[in-house]
Amino acid sequence: MDTVKYLLNEDQMPAAWYNVQADLPVPAPPVLHPGTGRPVGPDDLAPLFPMALILQEVSQERWIGIPEPVRDIYRQWRPTPLYRARRLEKALDTPARIYYKYEGVSPAGSHKPNTAVAQAYYNKEAGVKRLCTETGAGQWGSSLAFAGALFGLDVKVFMVKVSFRQKPYRRGLMEAYGAQVIASPSHETEAGRRILAQHPDSTGSLGIAISEAVEVAAQDPECNYALGSVLNHVLLHQTVIGQEAMVQLGMADDYPDVVVGCTGGGSNFAGIAFPFIGAKLRGERDVRIVAVEPRACPSLTRGKYAYDFGDTAHLTPLTKMHTLGSTFVPEGIHAGGLRYHGMAPLVSHLVELGHIEPRAEHQLGCFEAALTFARTEGILPAPEASHAVKGAMDEAVRCREEGTSRAILFNLCGHGHFDLQAYMDYAAGQLRDHEYSEEEVAMALAGLPSVG
Ligand SMILES: *Cc1c(COP(=O)(O)O)cnc(C)c1O
Repeated sequence: MDTVKYLLNEDQMPAAWYNVQADLPVPAPPVLHPGTGRPVGPDDLAPLFPMALILQEVSQERWIGIPEPVRDIYRQWRPTPLYRARRLEKALDTPARIYYKYEGVSPAGSHKPNTAVAQAYYNKEAGVKRLCTETGAGQWGSSLAFAGALFGLDVKVFMVKVSFRQKPYRRGLMEAYGAQVIASPSHETEAGRRILAQHPDSTGSLGIAISEAVEVAAQDPECNYALGSVLNHVLLHQTVIGQEAMVQLGMADDYPDVVVGCTGGGSNFAGIAFPFIGAKLRGERDVRIVAVEPRACPSLTRGKYAYDFGDTAHLTPLTKMHTLGSTFVPEGIHAGGLRYHGMAPLVSHLVELGHIEPRAEHQLGCFEAALTFARTEGILPAPEASHAVKGAMDEAVRCREEGTSRAILFNLCGHGHFDLQAYMDYAAGQLRDHEYSEEEVAMALAGLPSVG
């Protein structure tokens, strides 16, 4: 299998990122320019991203070599551990073999540094001085702040206001790494001022924060924009997770029957799932792939597969994805990283092709699952990751009910050490489940741009 050839160097780390675009039976729909309705070219994206990342965005090469300076930094925490959850298996009384890949060992505590380090590296190489970005719960902002510090880049972060209030310690971490953090919507940008004029109490959304960050980056020639999820190159950088897991499971003489991940923008999910989907697409090995999203932001299960903007102020190109509409402002659930109105185009495409089973879960069930996990395995999952924990546990219970043993692999994409307020609120009975009515979903979707 040529998968394995690329997997591990002598240091047990992947030498290349895996690009699922090379194995797609049907290419993903192109990204469109909102003005012309025609596919965007590299030059359209050049004000925001370095050319190396733009080329990765459209590459059809199966393997893209990881630059040595990036691998040097990865080596601090990669390969990340793959654990078998034996105590959880016992607690669930399941014949299933549950494995989890733990990305919480990175300096920022999640999978996000896998792409933050790569993006900072390519921007530094291109002579960029500053990076501007958005963050939900603060995981991405702290990862980029960390990577910016390593490469001597200034980092400015627009943080969704509800999370800015809910998670003051993530802000503290970003500032400790030297980044500047601004609650979004803010008065610093035209996009922010426009929202505040209409909704002075706006709690913000990732869509709004992206607009603010893109606006700042587009106006400053020395500043680029960095996105922590959704885009093809971001998903690409995360594939180190699945490649390592494949080899680590091989050492245990096992292979997953089911792979489970949580989906916000789709990057940690793609990171663990795409290498396995690739093996399936190449006819090497079958596998089921489950994506778990929050019911409070159900883009894959209740959104529409359509061209939409990536941000609320409509500064980005149009991508075809599962979307709830770019003006959708989800409930202020604690899984802030999953509060995005859209989904990675590559994940959406693979859902449409029938290779991914999407599922939506309420937050209370996810917190309950996360506590069972913490009390058996000892690691407190990030609220986002609790959706994957719930999905994996449900699969394991199904194995018990059906009396079959299957191997279940899930991505524990981050720890919850900065999310303890969420767990305290849950314990105090202060969290509620939220479900949107048909009318609310339809209203948010009514504003989709018309294309072609
Ligand atoms: C950001 C984040 C997510 C959501 O983003 P994806 O791109 O869907 O991975 C999920 N979990 C954690 C821990 C995060 O930090």
